Amino acid sequence: MDTWSQHLVPRDTGWIEVICGCMFSGKTEELIRRMRRAQIARQNVAVFKPRIDTRFSSDHIVSHSDQSLVSHAVQHATEIPPLTKNAQVIGIDEAQFFDESLVSVCEELANQGKRVIVAGLDQDYRGRPFSPIPSLLAVAEYITKTLAICMVCGNPADRTQRKTQQHDLVVIGAKDIYEARCRHCFEPPNE
Ligand code: ZN
Repeated sequence: MDTWSQHLVPRDTGWIEVICGCMFSGKTEELIRRMRRAQIARQNVAVFKPRIDTRFSSDHIVSHSDQSLVSHAVQHATEIPPLTKNAQVIGIDEAQFFDESLVSVCEELANQGKRVIVAGLDQDYRGRPFSPIPSLLAVAEYITKTLAICMVCGNPADRTQRKTQQHDLVVIGAKDIYEARCRHCFEPPNE
């Protein structure tokens, strides 16, 4: 069951849902699942992702388990509102690659009566809050934290361990560069 549907579904207003967690925790899968259900309910949907994320496909969002959904790749969050005139449900993936302006964009869309679903990493590779997700959590009505499985001990995992020595905030990769770790097994990088 969707987190939000355990509660009363809001009427005559929009709202913001955030799906956050570490890599390999199923964020994109959960976003795709919610968007598909909206499509089945014959709602107009629009899906966006930052242009920086070219891991898989430039016009789809794709989960690590190969689910996919058609999306627009945009450079900046402010490009989103003009592309959502007819959309009732708006999905935004890989939100950590947008800047803080994503927060006011999501607020603007929700204030227009739209359902906004945002998925992204809540911690960076050092285990620190990853902007703009912390600010989005503060203004969202519904929050889902997805957990992965620790690759070392099998506990529930909420951290992303970078396996290489690169110190850039953004290093695009998947299982070649990252793995999920629990609090106990996570090793913060030496800086
Ligand atoms: Zn562990």
